[in-house]
Amino acid sequence: MGTGHLTIDLDALAANWRALDAMGSAETGAVVKADGYGLGVAPVARTLHKAGARRFFVAVAEEGAALRQALGPNVDVCVFGGHMPGDSEMIGDLGLVPMLNSLEQVLRHFEALPGHPFGIQLDTGMNRLGMEMSEWAAVAEIALQQKPVLVMSHLACADEPDHEMNTRQLAEFHRMTDGIKVPRSLAATGGILLGQEYQFDLTRPGIGLYGGRPFEEARPVVTLELPVIQVRDVEPGESVGYGNSWIAERRTRLATVAAGYADGITRHLSNRASLWHGDAPCPIRGRVSMDLICADITDLPETPDSLALLNGRQGVDDIADIAGTIGYEVLTQLGPRYTRRHPSA
Ligand SMILES: *Cc1c(COP(=O)(O)O)cnc(C)c1O
Repeated sequence: MGTGHLTIDLDALAANWRALDAMGSAETGAVVKADGYGLGVAPVARTLHKAGARRFFVAVAEEGAALRQALGPNVDVCVFGGHMPGDSEMIGDLGLVPMLNSLEQVLRHFEALPGHPFGIQLDTGMNRLGMEMSEWAAVAEIALQQKPVLVMSHLACADEPDHEMNTRQLAEFHRMTDGIKVPRSLAATGGILLGQEYQFDLTRPGIGLYGGRPFEEARPVVTLELPVIQVRDVEPGESVGYGNSWIAERRTRLATVAAGYADGITRHLSNRASLWHGDAPCPIRGRVSMDLICADITDLPETPDSLALLNGRQGVDDIADIAGTIGYEVLTQLGPRYTRRHPSA
């Protein structure tokens, strides 16, 4: 193999959806934006559909088109970005459900696609997307007459269970939606874990499905194996890679693997993370370059054919911690050059 091999465990994905689904009585949707968090929207969505998901969420209408192609007509495809200018035809033809987030979008939707399903997105304090109380108050009556399929909002701090923002947003969501006869949704992965009072009628898990924090009990979904292209020995005093950022202190055996920052393996891992041969860590020596990484295999008993960046010993959140980012970003940066495999029992 000349490229890295990204293996996506669809059984683990389905198990994670079922585990989150079992945490309450709400319907459990699935967020598959950004190509299923980088793992391939078609196999991911089909697996989640088979597990029982019937309502899917994407960020933009174009992603909804890809999802509709993968799943066919009998699922709900909701678009967080709402009804954007120029999207009416796609929304109408493909039966996408825009989550309208402003008065402007509400008017656009009612004018362009009267009678077409839609949802409403409210802002309960995150100040990112959705109508605030004053705007909602002005539009609620006409919007509710048209029977939205969902009213939703999003939590800013749900990955921190003790953050006071959670109860504040919960109270605001109640204030904005109590008494209306429309299904409600507030919780993504973090919100599901906060408990049933956050779950309302429908939940929208994303990262937890893909094995990331804050769903600590998630089964890991992704493994990434990088082929060794060349092995060499360097003497004490010799340097490795761009900028001579690592100098050997002992006779060192190095393996050069075929992946780099062009594949989403950030340069911040230079001299800081390890690749793995089974349970044995092989520290990255020198800088991660565009297509190549050097790792220290001096202590291995044999010369490996490949080394893992993501395996049972090192997950997306471990890499994220080292790189100073979050698992979401590690997943969605996984590059297009990998050979992707989606085995399922
Ligand atoms: C991305 C997103 C989700 C999923 O969030 P996770 O933290 O990945 O579970 C849910 N709702 C909205 C509005 C989102 O943007």
